[in-house]
Amino acid sequence: MTIPFFSQPPVGSYIAGEWFAGKKKFLVRNPADDSTLAQLADANEQQALHAVNAATEALFAWSALPAATRAAILEVWHDLILSNQDELALLLTLEQGKPLKEAKTEIAYGASYIKWFAAEAIRLYGDTIPAAASNKAILVLRQPVGVVAAITPWNFPNAMITRKAAAALAAGCTFVVKPAAETPLSALALATLAQQAGIPSGVFNVVVGTDAKAIGEVLTANQQIQKFSFTGSTAVGKKLLAQCAASVKRVTMELGGNAPFIVFDDADLDAAVSGLIASKFRNAGQTCVSANRVFVHNSVSKQFSTKLLEAVVDLKLAPGSEPDSQIGPLISDSAVVRVQQLVNAAIEDGACLLCGGRADVAGRRFYQPTILADTDMSMAVCQQEIFGPVVPLISFDNEEEVLALANDTDAGLAAYFYSRDIGRVFRVARQLQFGMLGINEGIVSNAAAPFGGIKQSGFGREGSKYGLDDYTDLKYMALGGLD
Ligand code: NAP
Repeated sequence: MTIPFFSQPPVGSYIAGEWFAGKKKFLVRNPADDSTLAQLADANEQQALHAVNAATEALFAWSALPAATRAAILEVWHDLILSNQDELALLLTLEQGKPLKEAKTEIAYGASYIKWFAAEAIRLYGDTIPAAASNKAILVLRQPVGVVAAITPWNFPNAMITRKAAAALAAGCTFVVKPAAETPLSALALATLAQQAGIPSGVFNVVVGTDAKAIGEVLTANQQIQKFSFTGSTAVGKKLLAQCAASVKRVTMELGGNAPFIVFDDADLDAAVSGLIASKFRNAGQTCVSANRVFVHNSVSKQFSTKLLEAVVDLKLAPGSEPDSQIGPLISDSAVVRVQQLVNAAIEDGACLLCGGRADVAGRRFYQPTILADTDMSMAVCQQEIFGPVVPLISFDNEEEVLALANDTDAGLAAYFYSRDIGRVFRVARQLQFGMLGINEGIVSNAAAPFGGIKQSGFGREGSKYGLDDYTDLKYMALGGLD
C-alpha cells in the first residue's frame, strides 16, 4: 500500500521518539470512496500512559533549553512542513476528504502557528511590579505549565494539532496528542517531520487509536499532565472537562459553534455572497466556524437568495484529490444521514427548498449544496451545528430583532455580519455574544489572532500574543532584604 508523504507505510503511534507497532490494528479509509489507506496499530491506555511518561521524562531538558534554541528547532519543523506541503496536503485530502486546494491552505495555516509561536517563544516576558518598600521587589516569571495532553478532531487534521503543539513546545512544555481515529495519518506525518527537525524524543508524542474513551481517560486523569487542551464537539468536551476536574488540570476547550451570518440592508451583497460561500462551503460545511444560520434583511432577501443560488450551482462536487473539486465528501455515512434528517425536518416544518437537499451523483457521501428559505429558530437546522453544506435563510426586519435571534444559542464561537454603516458595525460588534467576528469578511482564522469561543463554545485562546498564556504559569517572587 503506497500513501503520499511516507516512504515506508506508517505503523502506528509515535512515542518517545519511536514508532509503536502492535498486534491489534485499525484501518484508515478515504471518505470519498471508502478505500483503505493504511492499517495502523491500535493504541490503548497503556500506550497513552507510555507517552505521558515519555513527555514527563523529556520535560526538564526541553524546558531548560534557551527559548531561542526551542524557537530555532520549531523554525526547522515549520520549514520542513512547508517543503513537504504538496505531499502533506494530498495525504490530508485522502484521509479527510477536503479539496486539495483547501488541504494545501490548511498545511500552510497549520505551519503558520509554528512560525508564530517560534517567534513568541523568544518574547516570553515576565514582569517587575513596584513593591511597597524600597528594600523589596516583586518579580513575575512565566514558566511552562509542564506536560500538555491534547485531543483533536478530524475536520482539520493538521492545523488543530499544530496550533496547540506549537504553543506548548514554544513555552517549554512537552506534548502528547490523540488525533481523531478517522485522520491519524496527518498527525503521524507531523511526528515524522518533528523527528527530522530535531525535536527531542518524548517532547512531541502522537497516540493513534480507536478507543478514544480509554485513551481520553488517561489524558484527563493522569497527575503528571498539568494541562489538557481539547478541540471537538461540545458534548464530548463537557465530559472531558468533568474528567479533568479530579486532578484540577488547566483546560482549554475549543468546542462547537452555531455561527450567525447577518446581511444588513446596507451590505455589499456580492461581497456577502462570496463571504458566505467561503464560510459555509469550506470543508463541505464541516468547520466549527461555519456560518450556520443566515439572517438576511427583508428588503434584500430576494436579491440575496437569487445571487446566492447563482453562486452555489457552480460549485463542483468531486473527490478532493480531483483538481477541480470544490466540495468533497462528508466524513462518514452517519454524517450524511444527520444532515439529511436536519434538511427533511426543516422542510416538514415549512422551510422551502431552493436547491440541493440530497446526496449527489458524485457519491453517497457527497451532499449537495443546499439552500433552505423560510427557516426559523424553532427548527433543528437552526439550533444544531449542521456540519454540512446547508444554508438556512431567515428574514429579519430590524437590528434589535436580528441581534436577539443571533444570540439565541448556547454557542459563542464565531459570528459574521455585512454592513457598510460604521455606527452599526460597532453597535452590532459590541452586542454579538461570540468570541470571533467576521465583519464584511467570511474567514476569521489567522495565527496572529486569538481563536476561541465564549459560552458553551469553550474557553482559552489559540494563536496570537495571548496564545502562550494557556501554556504558561505565572510565578510571583517576593524579594526582601534588598537594602
Ligand atoms: P468529537 O466527536 O467530539 O471528537 C473529537 C475528538 O474527541 C476525537 O479525537 C475523538 O476521537 C475524541 N473523542 C470522542 N469521544 C471521546 C471520549 N469519550 N473521550 C475522549 N475522547 C473522545 O468531535 P468531531 O465530530 O470529531 O469534531 C467536530 C466537532 O469539533 C464540531 O462540534 C466542531 O465544531 C468542533 N470543532 C471545534 C473547533 C474549535 O476550535 N472550536 C475546531 C474544530 C472543530 P475519535 O475520533 O477517535 O472518536
